[in-house]
Amino acid sequence: MPAGRFYITTPIYYVNDKPHIGHAYTTIAADTLARWREARGEDVLFLTGTDENSQKTVEAAKKSGEEIHRYTDRLAELWQSTWVKLGISNTDFIRTTEERHIATVKDFWGRLEAAGDLYKDRYEGLYCKGHEAFIKEDELVNGLCPEHKTKPELVSEENYFFRLSKYQAQLLDFYATHEDFVAPANRFNEVKSFVERGLEDVSFSRELKPDAEPWGIPVPKDPGQAIYVWADALVNYISAVGIEGWEEHPADIHAVGKDILRFHAVIWPAMLMSAGLPLPGQVIANGFITANGVKMSKSLGNGVDPLDLAARYGVDATRYFLLREIPYGEDGDFSEEKMKERYNADLANGLGNFAARVSTLAEKEMLKNSEMDVDFKKTIADMDRAVREKLGAFKFNEALAAIWSAISFGDRYVNEKKVWEIKNPGERSRALFNLVSLLESVAATLASFMPETSKKITAAIERNGDEIKVKKIEALFPRIS
Ligand SMILES: [Zn+2]
Repeated sequence: MPAGRFYITTPIYYVNDKPHIGHAYTTIAADTLARWREARGEDVLFLTGTDENSQKTVEAAKKSGEEIHRYTDRLAELWQSTWVKLGISNTDFIRTTEERHIATVKDFWGRLEAAGDLYKDRYEGLYCKGHEAFIKEDELVNGLCPEHKTKPELVSEENYFFRLSKYQAQLLDFYATHEDFVAPANRFNEVKSFVERGLEDVSFSRELKPDAEPWGIPVPKDPGQAIYVWADALVNYISAVGIEGWEEHPADIHAVGKDILRFHAVIWPAMLMSAGLPLPGQVIANGFITANGVKMSKSLGNGVDPLDLAARYGVDATRYFLLREIPYGEDGDFSEEKMKERYNADLANGLGNFAARVSTLAEKEMLKNSEMDVDFKKTIADMDRAVREKLGAFKFNEALAAIWSAISFGDRYVNEKKVWEIKNPGERSRALFNLVSLLESVAATLASFMPETSKKITAAIERNGDEIKVKKIEALFPRIS
């Protein structure tokens, strides 16, 4: 395997609904990191995909009146094409109904079994269909699941259990020696205290009811049981590279939402310890995005469609808004008002205006490559250093802020120097060379965040040996009223 490989993943997403901006946010953040590493010459493997084996899928297919395979094909295609339209640069897309995944899950199950970490036991508890998980009595509100507002059913059945409790000490040791394993740090503290409070074994299979539609991956040698949610879904990260591939180079970063952090930071490492496989480098978790202050959900029908935003504001403006507005790891809110405000202030008046100004002034000049002024060199170096540091700490919003402060510097220079009034040709071309070089650096740094905009700016600046020719860059972000 080549040196400098970088493997990053998003969660696999349920196919019971189409993507909303919460999914888009997680995926765009991962994409920005993937593009950033690739630009640094690393060999990037970027995986996303769909989680299709759940009972939710069976119900969603029934509801839409489609044969289940037709349904999953259609939804997987919808997710894939959404990512293409949002400029996501994933190098692989995995579906949990694929043979490469099913084979890996069975193989992985065999490893847990060989380690003595699976046992069969009767389980009795309240099961929430919406969660696809058992729910504790004291979590209910008026007898209902507080999230799904449905009454959980009392389930009593034989399940396979995974000995998660056995890995408490090993997990705590691992956390103690890998202080960046979970980011942001406050989320890592939540994970640690959860594990410190003690771990219970977890159900890893469900009984297949004779009347239910057979769906999901059957337990090897026990086809009356289906492998349950996490014992199936998490393994996708290995399925994409194969067990040997994972042994050589496990994922560097799993990017997830905070609702599934515990599974990725507790159950998954324990599963890997049991299977004798290396652990991922880092799990990073973003917060939730509400729409006008309300949680987005299928039942409320208030999910904001990222493709709708992209159609009205542009793909890069959508990427920019999500990364700039919501500090990574924290919860954030989407509203049309905020989107418009950022669009007009930062993109139309900020970057778009700067690019138009500089290119308009420079288009009539034949510029020669020379030395930039010291303050321009410093501005660019500061920007590059800040972006590198901030992205290393997953502070996408602060990285973008650093780029925008370089843009402001350029704008101030145009105003203070009154560049459009400079008559002396040498002075004029020096000022324009400074500005064009700054614009070029801004575009290069933006490539990971806003790939299309970066390309448009770069394409307008043509370097030929020592000569620089600039074409006018018009209306990158037309004002929206
Ligand atoms: Zn529920």
